[in-house]
Amino acid sequence: MYVSHLECPKCNKEFNHKELNQLCTSCKSPLLVIYDLKAVKENFKKESLASRNFNLWRYKELLPIEDEKNIISLGEVITPLIKLEKLEKKLGLKNLYLKDEGFNPGGSFKSRGAAVGISKAKELNVKSFAMPTNGNAGAAWSIYAARADIKAYIVMPINAPTITRNECIVSGANLFLVDGLISDAGKIVAKSIDKYKFMDASTLKEPYRIEGKKTMAFEIAEQFDWELPDIILYPTGGGVGLIGIFKALKELQEIGFVKGKLPRLVAVQASNCAPIVKAYERKQQESIFWKNSNTVAFGINVPKAIGDFLVLEAIYKTGGCAIAIKDEDILKYQELIAKEEGLFICPEGASTLAAIEELYKKGWIKEDEKVVLLNTGSGLKYPNTIISNPTILNPNDEISIETFF
Ligand SMILES: *Cc1c(COP(=O)(O)O)cnc(C)c1O
Ligand SMILES: [Zn+2]
Repeated sequence: MYVSHLECPKCNKEFNHKELNQLCTSCKSPLLVIYDLKAVKENFKKESLASRNFNLWRYKELLPIEDEKNIISLGEVITPLIKLEKLEKKLGLKNLYLKDEGFNPGGSFKSRGAAVGISKAKELNVKSFAMPTNGNAGAAWSIYAARADIKAYIVMPINAPTITRNECIVSGANLFLVDGLISDAGKIVAKSIDKYKFMDASTLKEPYRIEGKKTMAFEIAEQFDWELPDIILYPTGGGVGLIGIFKALKELQEIGFVKGKLPRLVAVQASNCAPIVKAYERKQQESIFWKNSNTVAFGINVPKAIGDFLVLEAIYKTGGCAIAIKDEDILKYQELIAKEEGLFICPEGASTLAAIEELYKKGWIKEDEKVVLLNTGSGLKYPNTIISNPTILNPNDEISIETFF
């Protein structure tokens, strides 16, 4: 393992990675995992990937697990990178790809964070954790925790997608619902952490979830044969994925796996919960709590992210941008990509497709630029976003195609 230490990105204070650490004890910032990249560069060669399994653990030199015995795996896969040829024609683009994270265990990319987060928790001898969640993270951490024999205490808003509740319950997690937002769930968790000495697995309050999520960028780079795309669009809630992608790209640069400019990173948010977009438009380094947030794209309903300054840094440093999409457009594009490409993606993922159309119209994207949309989860997790009105037949009826004209 090549981790050298944990570091606070605000005050640069260093922490020991052999111990359980949460936020920086001085300034309460999230901590980042720092690797000895010189040593990684000497010992990790692209060729060595050829013989490795097709899952995120193939990038083990840039992951924080010391003893492979501690790896908790549920059969992670390299998720497909699909060229959207019909939508390219419709939108006027030439190189439009979607990375489909719906293929992960539990149907969302949250399992990347959970796979690495839970494996590391096991390595650090953690017995129990608590976390607030909008659904998918709690579900992913619950299934991995079951396999690791770690106790999970999950608090989620009562309106979170029902299926994520069921995933927590079936895998033996202790689930609580709160009539409020993820920020309210966070307050409840914070109180119990002190009382019961749980590990706090809230977004970015432990350093290893980023390490899991960053593997999306390793895969994108490898899938493009180490030629980076020009733009990556990401549906941003807590922003861990975006922070992780930025971190991974810089690591790949430092070990010499990729060259040239980094992709412009785009944070896509919902119009009724767009704190990062507002901060970006005002050229600020931090966001302000978004009151009365509300969106069908539940995973990105985060009124104030603890790592907002890192998300904004990733946007500014790569020349990216932030853009907000209305719920009605999110749903329109969710339907469009299913009709055109056969991909049933989650509303969060659909927001990136709506964003690409807007950014292209504004001239922010050139037609031949290579663009990657991140679909963070399967549409199957949100069955109620689709309104269906099927024709009901009696057993003696026939199909009449006229009903469809
Ligand atoms: C959690 C979640 C997001 C947002 O992820 P962050 O990395 O915290 O910004 C996006 N889409 C889905 C489906 C999610 O579950
Ligand atoms: Zn600090």
